[in-house]
Amino acid sequence: MARRAEPTPHVSPARTAISGAMISGTAIPVGPVRTCVGCRARVARSDLLRIVVVGGELLPDVRHRMHGRGAHVHPDPGCVDLAERRKAFPRALRVPGPLGLNQVRAYLELRTRNRGM
Ligand SMILES: [Zn+2]
Repeated sequence: MARRAEPTPHVSPARTAISGAMISGTAIPVGPVRTCVGCRARVARSDLLRIVVVGGELLPDVRHRMHGRGAHVHPDPGCVDLAERRKAFPRALRVPGPLGLNQVRAYLELRTRNRGM
């Protein structure tokens, strides 16, 4: 009852899993992914600020609790400016522009100040 030794596979499943994890660790975020309407980067939803529109004014949905269509953008004035120039908010929210950004800008300013930057 001599057993034939199995040849070692070139790539073991464990090794594949490790290299896969290394790739996903740098490039693919975990969890739900959204596209920033400013810089168009695909990142984890938790890294983006959700924006909703109420009566022609864009509002930051900080707690992700507002109903309706939302647009996602980095909580960064640069990305908000980019999105505004591209008219990305009206397009993402399927509403006719232009939309007021005062609330979003005020929120970002407050957020930056609270961070002590
Ligand atoms: Zn961005």
